[in-house]
Amino acid sequence: MKKASEIKNLARYGDTFTTAYIEAALWSSTGPAFGECPCCGETKLLDRLPEKEYRQDSMCSGPECGMRETPEEPPLDENYSWTDIAPETLQRMIDDCAKFQAENDLTGYPLKNAGHDFWLTRNRHGCGFWENDFGTEEQCDKLTKASKAFGEFNLYPGDDGKLYV
Ligand SMILES: [Zn+2]
Repeated sequence: MKKASEIKNLARYGDTFTTAYIEAALWSSTGPAFGECPCCGETKLLDRLPEKEYRQDSMCSGPECGMRETPEEPPLDENYSWTDIAPETLQRMIDDCAKFQAENDLTGYPLKNAGHDFWLTRNRHGCGFWENDFGTEEQCDKLTKASKAFGEFNLYPGDDGKLYV
């Protein structure tokens, strides 16, 4: 199995299925940005907004900074890429993809779509293998069940700006 530490360029070294899986994880998950707080200048998770009368730049949740919860968090891919995924979390994603591909028949199912659908189906998003876009109905049914058996996997930024499960 691939080691997360050996992957320097996802498009080049990650296989098609795993690359698509990680891309889907980033665009279908949401979370606050990580960066310099415009109020205190510290580098933190920017998960709050100031009171309504002030400029609505995202701020940190420090006592003098943003006070209101951000009403809608942006998709992770607006602020993060696969290199921001914590190494141990990335390794779990790579291992799950390798296991899923080894255990399931993906004949006739394009690997890029299969990688997307594995992420979306296991996390019960609005699309996935069950739509039967490729492969046979019986095959898609098996892939849906197999994905759900892996359980949900949610990415969220930690206090260090890395993405964790
Ligand atoms: Zn601050």
